Amino acid sequence: MAIKYVAEPFRIKMVEPIKMLSREEREEKIKEAKYNLFNLKGEDVFIDLLTDSGTGAMSDKQWSGVMRGDEAYAGGKSYFKLLEAGQDIFGYKFIQPVHQGRAAEKVLFGLLMGSGKYAISNMFFDTTRAHVELAGARAIDCVVEEAKDPTLRAPFKGNMDVEKLEKLINEYGKENIALVVMTITNNSAGGQPVSVQNMRDVSAVCKKYGIPLCIDAARYAENAFFVKQREEEFKDWAIKDIVREMFSYADMFTMSAKKDAIVNMGGLVGIKEDEELYQKVKGNTISFEGFTTYGGLSGRDLEALAVGLYEGLDEDYLRYRIGQLEYIAAKLDEAGIAYQAPVGGHGVFIDAKAMFPHIPYNEFPGQALAVELYKEAGIRTCDIGSYMLGNDPDTGEQLQAEFEFTRLAVPRRVYTQAHLDIVVDALIAIKERASEVKGYRITWEPPVLRHFQAHLEPVE
Ligand SMILES: *Cc1c(COP(=O)(O)O)cnc(C)c1O
Repeated sequence: MAIKYVAEPFRIKMVEPIKMLSREEREEKIKEAKYNLFNLKGEDVFIDLLTDSGTGAMSDKQWSGVMRGDEAYAGGKSYFKLLEAGQDIFGYKFIQPVHQGRAAEKVLFGLLMGSGKYAISNMFFDTTRAHVELAGARAIDCVVEEAKDPTLRAPFKGNMDVEKLEKLINEYGKENIALVVMTITNNSAGGQPVSVQNMRDVSAVCKKYGIPLCIDAARYAENAFFVKQREEEFKDWAIKDIVREMFSYADMFTMSAKKDAIVNMGGLVGIKEDEELYQKVKGNTISFEGFTTYGGLSGRDLEALAVGLYEGLDEDYLRYRIGQLEYIAAKLDEAGIAYQAPVGGHGVFIDAKAMFPHIPYNEFPGQALAVELYKEAGIRTCDIGSYMLGNDPDTGEQLQAEFEFTRLAVPRRVYTQAHLDIVVDALIAIKERASEVKGYRITWEPPVLRHFQAHLEPVE
């Protein structure tokens, strides 16, 4: 069934030209990039769906905020404006800016965990997993079973499996579980939302065992929009109040502000009330990021972020934003292309395993589809599967991911309906010649977060 595209609740005031290279040029460029889309030049990409991180278009209000940014080294006005916004939206006493999400993880996680410890999440995002491991601990995913079936439509496929969480705590010993992390929305499961009820249940388990609960909060607003649509109790609530309710159940959060806060750079650490922990966070921030009142950002970035935190909560914007994803999903349904359904908040996660049943996990079906999309129409996407997951840190063996997805991440307020149509048409064209597509093997890889840098070649 065709669904109506939700018109942009804004008009375009500034444009940035983009250009499609010829097919021969694209094939040459991706080969030169060692079949790793992170190695492509941005200007060689026509529609860039690599990530929704830091790629959004700022508003007139944010750009005027850029001009008002206070560049004082210490105690600038923009810092206090951001502090006020963070406290108002999330209800936490302590808000620490940092330069992006992984900086928040670095500043916080080393304080909470070390070797022999474990952290459990509904699903760790790649950098979050890396920072658990860099802190010496081990990361365990504990998502609900329905998340693992891309064709099964359930309202909250991002949820934590609460029963399994409690089992894991007992199995590893509560004194060894340093942290529980709720990723909202659940990025690696396909941008799937987490319900407030699940948050309450997880919070109760954490309290029972005395384990701190942290929100990985990159998509706080999209998650709240889904809660409003799908969780009866909240259908008449304001998005901001749902966010406040969600955060009331956790003790701290790390946030990449490059997602729902619609800035090109920025992140936050939030601590609800633990002043001692906050003091340590400040110490780490000074060591790693810069003085506490700028945290690795310019005053103008702090100002744009303070505005963006609110713009992300606007319901008309969220309806259009999620509407873009639902528009793509409806077209994929018509074409019989499988994806993590129902579609999530920030991207469509195409089930590459279903499209390429002949490519095994260790030849990276998600990466194969990403390469094909570039060849087909200059579209840049990324693998969210075994290629991204990498090797077991203890044995060095290739891990097998729960899913083999290719993620079409949609930047905020950037592309139009016609762009989305080109993306769907490219997928349909690839599906028609799917059996000819080959897998990939890695010819070089670095030890951590290899997918950003590895070199690949097609398996002949
Ligand atoms: C993007 C993201 C991060 C890391 O943030 P960066 O700003 O890219 O460093 C962490 N967790 C989740 C869920 C994310 O989406």
